[in-house]
Amino acid sequence: MKRIAYSELNAVEHWLDVVDPATADVVAQVSAGTAHDVEVAVRRAQAAFPAWSQQPNSERARWLDRLADALEARIPEFAEAETRDTGKPLWLTREIEIPRAVANLRFFAQAATQFASESHHGQAGLNYTLRQPHGVVGVISPWNMPLLLFTWKFAPALAAGNCVVAKPSEVTPLTAQMLAELARDIDFPEGVLNIVHGLGQTVGQAMVEHPGIRAISFTGSTAVGKHIAEHCARQLKKCSLELGGKNAALIFADAPKDKLYDHVVRAAFQNTGQICLCGSRLLVERRFYDEFRDTFVAKATHHLVGDPLAEGSFLGPLVSKAHHDKVMAYLELARDEGARVLAGGQRIDVPGRCANGWFVAPTILEGLGPHCRTNQEEIFGPIVTLQAFDDEEEALSLANATPYGLSASIWTEHLSRAHRVAARLDAGIVWVNTWMQRDLRTPFGGMKQSGLGREGGLEAMRFFTEPKNVCIGV
Ligand code: NAD
Repeated sequence: MKRIAYSELNAVEHWLDVVDPATADVVAQVSAGTAHDVEVAVRRAQAAFPAWSQQPNSERARWLDRLADALEARIPEFAEAETRDTGKPLWLTREIEIPRAVANLRFFAQAATQFASESHHGQAGLNYTLRQPHGVVGVISPWNMPLLLFTWKFAPALAAGNCVVAKPSEVTPLTAQMLAELARDIDFPEGVLNIVHGLGQTVGQAMVEHPGIRAISFTGSTAVGKHIAEHCARQLKKCSLELGGKNAALIFADAPKDKLYDHVVRAAFQNTGQICLCGSRLLVERRFYDEFRDTFVAKATHHLVGDPLAEGSFLGPLVSKAHHDKVMAYLELARDEGARVLAGGQRIDVPGRCANGWFVAPTILEGLGPHCRTNQEEIFGPIVTLQAFDDEEEALSLANATPYGLSASIWTEHLSRAHRVAARLDAGIVWVNTWMQRDLRTPFGGMKQSGLGREGGLEAMRFFTEPKNVCIGV
C-alpha cells in the first residue's frame, strides 16, 4: 500500500488511512503531519522566497505552464486517483475536474504576466501602487473537489510571487501528492510549493498560528472558517474564506423548459450533492409547481447511482462513512420535520465491488417550511427540497431566508425580472438560465455565512499581494 509523507527527512509517527468510499477499502496511508512539519515547510518556503519573487513574472508563468503541461499529459491517471479517493464518477474527474485543474494553472500563469497595478496623478503628485507578494502564504482546501480547489488556491499565490505551504484535505490527499511528485519530476524550484499532509486540528491549526505565514486562503466549512478567522484576527493575518452554502434555484413558470430540467438535476445532484454551489432548495412558482415536480422527479430518478469507475454511473457514493452518517441523520430529521419523500430517502446497495460503499439515493422532499433545519442547514448530500411561491417578492424572501449567501440560479425568460431578482438576491454568484458556468476571471465567493473576500481572476492576485502606494512629488 502506498504511504504518503510530507518529507522523507521527517520521521512519521502516525499514519491516516485513505479510504475509497465506493468500496470502503483502505487504498493508501498519509502521514499525520505535525506542527514541526509545518515549521520545516515554512523555513523551506522562506528560503525559496527571495529567488522566486525576484524572477520575472514571465518565468513564474513558465513554471506554472510547465506544471500544467505535465498534469495535462497524465489526466487519465489523475482522474482515476481522484475517483478512487472521492468516489466521484470517472467521467466527472476525467472530463471536468482534472482538466479544470490544468486550466487553473494555465489561467494563473497568464495572470502572472497580465496583472497590473494602478497609478493616480494630478491631485497630489504622481502616485503609483506597487503590488508585492506577502512572502510565505498558507492554503487549506477541502475534500469535495480536491485537485480543482487545491490548484485554484495555490496557483494565484505562486503567480503573484509568494511561496506556499499547502494543506490538502486529509480525506482526499492523493492527487495533491501526485502533483507534488510531478513538480519534483519537472524540477519545479525547490521550496516554492510545500505540501504538508495531516489533520486540520494539527497541521491546519499550526499553519494558521504560524507567524511566518502571512496570509491564509481557506476553503471549507463555515464552522472551521470562523475558527480560522478568529485565530487570524489575533495576529492581524490576512484571510480569505470560501465557506458553505444553502443555495436556491428560483424557477418561474416561464423558465426555458428545453434546458431547465437537465441543469436543475445536475445542480441538485452532481458529485452526489457535495458541491458548495449545488442548488439544494428548489423554489417553484405555484402555477408551475405540479408540472415541475412530476417531471423533475422522473428525470432525477432516471440517473444511475453506481460504481464510479463504471462508465454509466451518474452519481457515486458520499465521500466517507462519517459524511454518509451525517447525511442519513439529516434524512431522519427531515422526516421528523414532516417532509414528504417524493424520491430516494434511503441508502442504496450497489452489488459487487461496491457492496460496502456509502451510497445514498438522490432524494427529493416537499412539505417543509423555509425555517426548518432541513431548509436552513448545509447538508452537502443528494437531498433537495421543493417549496412553492406565488410571486417574485415571495421567491426572494424564501431564497434569502438562510444564513448563507453563496450562489443562486434564476430560471425565467423574462429579461427584466432576471435582472431585478439577481440584484436583490443575497448571493455572491448568480446564474440566469444556467448553472456552474464559470469564467475564471470573475469574482468568486459568498456573502453572509458563506465567506469573506473573493477569489478568481484579479481578486485572487489582489488577495495574494500587498498594495504599497508610492507618491512622487512633482
Ligand atoms: P472542513 O472545514 O471540515 O475542512 C476543510 C479543510 O480545513 C481541511 O483541509 C481540514 O483539514 C482543514 N481544517 C479543519 N480544521 C482546521 C483547523 N482548526 N485549522 C485549520 N484547518 C482546519 O470542510 P470539508 O468538510 O473538507 O469541506 C466541505 C465544506 O467546504 C462544505 O461546507 C462546503 O460548502 C465547503 N466548500 C466551500 C467552497 C466555496 O468555494 N465556498 C468550495 C468547496 C467546499
